[in-house]
Amino acid sequence: MLAYIGLGSNLDNPRAQVEQAFAELAALSGCELLARSPLYGSTAIGPGEQPDYVNAVGLLKTELTPLALLDALQAIEQSHRRVRLEHWGPRTLDLDILLLDNLSIDSERLKVPHPYLTQRSFVLYPLADIAPALHLPDGRSLQEVVALCPRDGLAQIE
Ligand code: AMP
Repeated sequence: MLAYIGLGSNLDNPRAQVEQAFAELAALSGCELLARSPLYGSTAIGPGEQPDYVNAVGLLKTELTPLALLDALQAIEQSHRRVRLEHWGPRTLDLDILLLDNLSIDSERLKVPHPYLTQRSFVLYPLADIAPALHLPDGRSLQEVVALCPRDGLAQIE
């Protein structure tokens, strides 16, 4: 199965958090990191003043089931001592499953495609860097979705 993973951090040296997370994704058993996007900087969404985010997207080839993959990503998040003080609040590392092959999943723990995939420039632009010809499970091309989503201050930082 091919899995696109969104990475984001805005605490404790976000760039290092994301770099470390890529290394941990690559080291997951039953997984191979096939591609990674450049790093992007984006302005935080949510309450109050927050540091800017560093975001990126990776492509994993995995033998794990969808929920086992989610478990593995959540274990990596925990190992980054993620602080969850408030919804939308700052976090040391956020890992999201964006897409899994051409699957649509709507369970309590896992929704794929990720519910905010098509609304967030910090996911769509790095995704388009590594998968320009991608189509979503609903048949739309990634390019057409990207064209509808303004960059909103998103900038490549490497
Ligand atoms: P957040 O870290 O705020 O993005 O939300 C984490 C919660 O979202 C976890 O409880 C997951 O079970 C749930 N979730 C639902 N769909 C996904 C997905 N595609 N990727 C990651 N977490 C998901």
